[in-house]
Amino acid sequence: MKQDSPVRRVVPVLVPVPTETPYSYAVPDGESVRPGAIVRVPLGPREVAGIVGRGTGGDVDPAKLRSISAIFDCPPLGDDALRFIEWIAAYTLTPPGLVARMFLRAPAALDPEPLIEGIVRTELRPDRMTAARHRVLELAEPGAAWTRPGLARAAGVSSTVIDGLKAQGVFEDVLLPPRPVVAEPDTGFAVPELTPDQSAAARTMRERVEAGGFSVTLIDGVTGSGKTEAYFEAVAAALDKGRQVLILLPEIALTHAFLERFQDRFGTKPAEWHSDVAPRMRERVWRQVAERSVKVVAGARSALFLPFADLGLIVVDEEHDPSYKQEERVCYNARDMAVVRGHIGGFPVILASATPSLESRVNALQDRYGRVLLPARFADASLPELATIDMRKAPPVRGGFLSPLLIEAVAKTLDRGEQALLFLNRRGYAPLTLCRVCGHRFQCPDCSSWLVEHRFRGQIVCHQCGHAEPRPEACPSCGALDHLVACGPGVERIAEEVVAHFPDARSIVLSSDLLGGVRRLRLELEAIAKGEADIVIGTQLVAKGHNFPNMTLVGVVDADLGLANGDPRAAERTFQLLSQVTGRAGRTGKKSRGLLQTYQPEHPVMRAIVSGDAEAFYERETAERERAGLPPFGRLAGIIVSAVSRGEAEGHARALRRAAPANADIQVLGPAEAPLALIGGRYRFRLLVHGGKRADLQSFARAMLAAAPRPRGSVRVQVDIDPQSF
Ligand code: ADP
Ligand code: ZN
Repeated sequence: MKQDSPVRRVVPVLVPVPTETPYSYAVPDGESVRPGAIVRVPLGPREVAGIVGRGTGGDVDPAKLRSISAIFDCPPLGDDALRFIEWIAAYTLTPPGLVARMFLRAPAALDPEPLIEGIVRTELRPDRMTAARHRVLELAEPGAAWTRPGLARAAGVSSTVIDGLKAQGVFEDVLLPPRPVVAEPDTGFAVPELTPDQSAAARTMRERVEAGGFSVTLIDGVTGSGKTEAYFEAVAAALDKGRQVLILLPEIALTHAFLERFQDRFGTKPAEWHSDVAPRMRERVWRQVAERSVKVVAGARSALFLPFADLGLIVVDEEHDPSYKQEERVCYNARDMAVVRGHIGGFPVILASATPSLESRVNALQDRYGRVLLPARFADASLPELATIDMRKAPPVRGGFLSPLLIEAVAKTLDRGEQALLFLNRRGYAPLTLCRVCGHRFQCPDCSSWLVEHRFRGQIVCHQCGHAEPRPEACPSCGALDHLVACGPGVERIAEEVVAHFPDARSIVLSSDLLGGVRRLRLELEAIAKGEADIVIGTQLVAKGHNFPNMTLVGVVDADLGLANGDPRAAERTFQLLSQVTGRAGRTGKKSRGLLQTYQPEHPVMRAIVSGDAEAFYERETAERERAGLPPFGRLAGIIVSAVSRGEAEGHARALRRAAPANADIQVLGPAEAPLALIGGRYRFRLLVHGGKRADLQSFARAMLAAAPRPRGSVRVQVDIDPQSF
């Protein structure tokens, strides 16, 4: 007999377990669930949140299965979000349940905010009245709405008093519409007058949004050319169509200025999504994105996993930025996943950068992506005049790190009443501490990294795992007192040198380990923009996105820093970082300079920066990648094997290598010690899988993992498709 019930009695549920196929659960009688519904299910002894998958739960008797325990009262994820989960799982070789978990980052949001409406429904019998209850009833007038803890706090009682009153039938629980986290953006709020270049760029992007359908457009324009201004018009076009918009930004927690510019254009701020948003706010954003009352989110890479009901545009600003790559648990690049999301959802994606990644540039040149160029800075702002300081010819004054030429340039800048930035991408005081007597070097007990001295804190710190210990006075190896020397500079040490040269200047150090965290950093950045500092000494934190109108000198203390390691991507990264940091200068009409201290002024990166000829640099890098068959002309996957014992890690890596299937198009390199050979007490070995542009690295890696012995003991295997360094 044909079953005529359309209701699925058994459904697959994506739960956070490392298995390839979802678990099946029975749907409770009288209930129905749709794919994408968010549910609570029993899992072993626990209860977990999961997402109902597509397809069937298999031909199983529901009576033999455990049942879904609750269906959350929130809109189910759309079909495209489910397909996105499946796609990422297959691409990154991650079990789908672990990808799905990224969508469940605001668990409490799954339950609507419980509110008590202050309607007294029944009179309380006098013998049940207490002083505490009386205080609650006085506050809870008819019509007033309170959350349970809010009411308890206001009345100065414990929440059990309120529960007691509810049990007496005095209150009614109702669900009130949630307070909106942000107002509706107004696309006509302040329409800017664009330059001809900007309007051409904006028109192209607007047309793509209006036409609908998937496309990728790269906006390639120097810092300050108005890329943001131009893509705001695409945002407006998507909003005019009633669609939601996601803008991804690196270091969003610090780019306060961006939120304000958005507000200037659209009359309201976008909703924010990053790890510094308070939990309660995250819950509201999550829910309101699902209910489509939040129209625009500005967020970090994890915002890709918000439950957008009707996403119609993603903008990835600073698309080349390395922080888009997540390298733990699920390894993915948010820029690439944004493109995938656009493809699945059938909407446009915009990538913006002054220094595009080689990958995006090649995609644009090969016409897979559209490309719009903004070659000039807006209005009278001109690019800084850039030069190198050859440190072989103009070495720093003894004991210091700043060349006399740079010190003189700072002095002149201060004389004009302008600001200078000294950039060094190294936190702390000194990257290495050693004993002058016996040569002992301070190393992290759990990582293969030297401990970095932080003089302000009086500690030596591991930048890998955070391990910190007080700075010792005696050498732990030979016992010599007061013979420890700091080797090399960090920002704190440069600050010391600055104070010695400019005792009257107001100087400030900005790095991510500043006490007071993100809030303090924001305040400092605002203070700098207002001119409340003369000399800023900062790490890459100051390189991104900030607008310091009075900053006319950028000095790079060690321009060679990023070039030292053997990574083929090092030149590209260094070029991007140096362009970005020197781009902080000259954002207004004033004449400005960027000076790079280097021991290799003839290096192609330095030449490209100084000449401004980015094209020549990119062409050379591209040709080299092509010759070596490296991305984007070939494909790479990293397989990292880690374990608490070095032998175990290496042994398993070798076993994996032996398990590699024969394939003429794919080679396996290694195992070799991973770029960071020991992190947090785990030894790491890496295999690199290298194939041509069309090679199916995923199937290859899957076959390898299946044929190898199962990891035992502390051994963990992490696959990293498209690794950051290679
Ligand atoms: P980018 O994103 O390319 O670095 P921005 O969009 O931040 O450039 O623009 C740089 C500066 O110039 C900003 O302060 C911005 O407000 C200003 N600006 C750019 N284009 C315009 C415009 N058409 N009208 C008014 N101000 C503009
Ligand atoms: Zn460590």
